[in-house]
Amino acid sequence: MSNSTNARAVRPEAQAFSPYVPGLTIAEIKERYGLSDVIKLASNENPLGASPLVQKALKDNAGLIFRYPQSGVPRLQAAMARRFGLDPACVVPGCGSNGIIDLLIRVKAAPGEHNIVAFKPCFSVYQLQARLCGVEFRQAPLRADFSFPWDDLSALVDERTAIVFVTTPDNPTGFCPPAAELEALARALPPYCLLVIDEAYMDFCADAAAHSLLPRLNDFPNVAVLRTFSKSYGLAGLRLGCGLMHPELAGVLRNVSIPFAVSLAAEEAGLAALEDTAFYQETLRVTREGRTWLSAELKKLGCEVWPSQSNFLLVKPPRPAREVFEALLQRGIIVRPLSSGYNLPEHLRISIGTAQENAALVKALQAVFAA
Ligand SMILES: *Cc1c(COP(=O)(O)O)cnc(C)c1O
Repeated sequence: MSNSTNARAVRPEAQAFSPYVPGLTIAEIKERYGLSDVIKLASNENPLGASPLVQKALKDNAGLIFRYPQSGVPRLQAAMARRFGLDPACVVPGCGSNGIIDLLIRVKAAPGEHNIVAFKPCFSVYQLQARLCGVEFRQAPLRADFSFPWDDLSALVDERTAIVFVTTPDNPTGFCPPAAELEALARALPPYCLLVIDEAYMDFCADAAAHSLLPRLNDFPNVAVLRTFSKSYGLAGLRLGCGLMHPELAGVLRNVSIPFAVSLAAEEAGLAALEDTAFYQETLRVTREGRTWLSAELKKLGCEVWPSQSNFLLVKPPRPAREVFEALLQRGIIVRPLSSGYNLPEHLRISIGTAQENAALVKALQAVFAA
């Protein structure tokens, strides 16, 4: 049998695929180092854990999980629309915002024909899904201070550019440009090119009104905004996010989505999370206070720390980042090295934890730097 008819043969894009590299899990590190207490500050998860209202909703609905969810999860779609001040027709609930990224690329970009443009480094999922789809991925390097060189980004756009991805606040840098700059980009792009603004961390921004185009989304038919429930709402393990965009494009995404992309549990959890404004507000308070405190403490320890509007800090330690990462692991603290995926081998990304977790990190770093 020739190779091309081999049942194990796959598309070349899939054959050579290097997968997404996630943060290490607490269980992995407990086992590897024989530790009983491990603090994870690697994946920008909610420091307060899961909302009590969400946990109750999951328990109350546990007996229903043998049922398929309601097709298209319309109750959740309506609740998301209320949350973001939009018509439900503009909302696409998805299996994480990663699910929406995947849908957008497959709906907008033709394999071998179109290209996608983003900054470098950027959230690696954009590139991974583009590659799997056989779509060229072009990147404009960030400036040395990690601010956005808009002209360099625009220079990569041509008549075959299907999507431009911008993450704001940015991952892994925390940089957050004013909304006026996004507006200028949206207006400058050709009408066939969709600007996808990934606002996974916008909740943590001190002044979202000045940095988000979402409140004026109806004025920008060529803009889609992504929101996730994995960070500020504490639902990373359940996989829930949404895309917010022109109703026509949103309708196409909903039509082509695999059926039941949002699980019954994620639907109930999402509805409860949107109700629990106390948990959400407390998350924002803890994160913003922790961000200010941790940033100052890390600087005192000789780290370079970039300004962040997010729930993490980009940090360049005074010792090689790999060494610091390993030394922290041995002390039971997981942070995120940025060598794979982001190509920033001298930097670490550190999620803001609870006040106790932040203090434990500072104490551990003091010991590591003193050694
Ligand atoms: C964490 C993160 C997301 C969230 O993805 P989900 O699939 O919703 O968990 C999206 N975009 C960026 C840039 C992120 O850092």
